[in-house]
Amino acid sequence: MLLSRAYRIHEESKFSLKSLKRLAIAPCFGDPYLIKNNSIFRNIRAQTLRNGYSFRPAEGTDYVLFPMAGLQKILRTKGIPFFSNARPLKEQLARGVNLELPPEMPILKTNHLFHESCHACLQEIIESSGIKKELRVQKASVLTRKRLLALYSFLGESAANTCETLAWMECDNDAHQLFMSYNNYVYRPEFLSRSYFRTARIPAIFVFVYFAFLSSHHFKSQLSQSRLQRISNLVLQITGDRLPSKGHKNFGELCRAWEFCQKMSPAFRWVTADIHFKVGGLDMEISRLIEFDFIDAFERISSLRTILSVFCATAIGQTRDGTL
Ligand SMILES: [Zn+2]
Repeated sequence: MLLSRAYRIHEESKFSLKSLKRLAIAPCFGDPYLIKNNSIFRNIRAQTLRNGYSFRPAEGTDYVLFPMAGLQKILRTKGIPFFSNARPLKEQLARGVNLELPPEMPILKTNHLFHESCHACLQEIIESSGIKKELRVQKASVLTRKRLLALYSFLGESAANTCETLAWMECDNDAHQLFMSYNNYVYRPEFLSRSYFRTARIPAIFVFVYFAFLSSHHFKSQLSQSRLQRISNLVLQITGDRLPSKGHKNFGELCRAWEFCQKMSPAFRWVTADIHFKVGGLDMEISRLIEFDFIDAFERISSLRTILSVFCATAIGQTRDGTL
């Protein structure tokens, strides 16, 4: 798409937001368009603001200088950094420069308010979930508590990955796709073009994709029959919906979604997890923190299921009473 057309759509979106104007960060290229047209993007923004977060210029902050340590500061200060990346485009247009913007290859600094906001929403849900009380009642060991802290970190990352993946479902034109690629870490997922994911019950797919990313971060990438059965049971408990089982015509679609979520390099996941744990105060070997059956934790600890249920409802815009 030509820059001149993309920038015009960005500007038109800003002026047609009406009551949604308070949600948009206008200096971010494409943000007003996504607030107007993408429900997951909009729901996460609205909840982030309700949680008391604000958006601040990123230039010169730790977020730019040491991004991997940036999340702790975001959660501590309730401030999410953004780049005013619409401005340099406007300046080029004013000089008479027009460019072809490749649809999935951003040519300037991208914004990740969406990703960081998912972390922020999830963190608030954990804090109000009652999980600390539940662990006290169960007399959980120090190791169990540390492993759960590591799991919270993966829960946050998976929450962001899931929203960023499924937000692509709503991209039905070239402008929507372009703006999504300037505000999202996840490239367009191929499996979403398949008909099943356009007609499926979204909460069940949302929670399944969440477990797929969680498994990836937990280095449990194999989807055995027994693992799928346990995840399907949890999806049913959390959403009230069933996933297709083996032999169903849509089972292949589910497997492709799983595979998509396992694509991140294991070496990258290991290094980033270690940094996030250490910066978050978890001073223990990463292998000890992750070598446990996290599915079992979801089966035993009801607050963990509630966290997923409430986050899913937040992202897809349903009530926040823990049910869907
Ligand atoms: Zn993240």
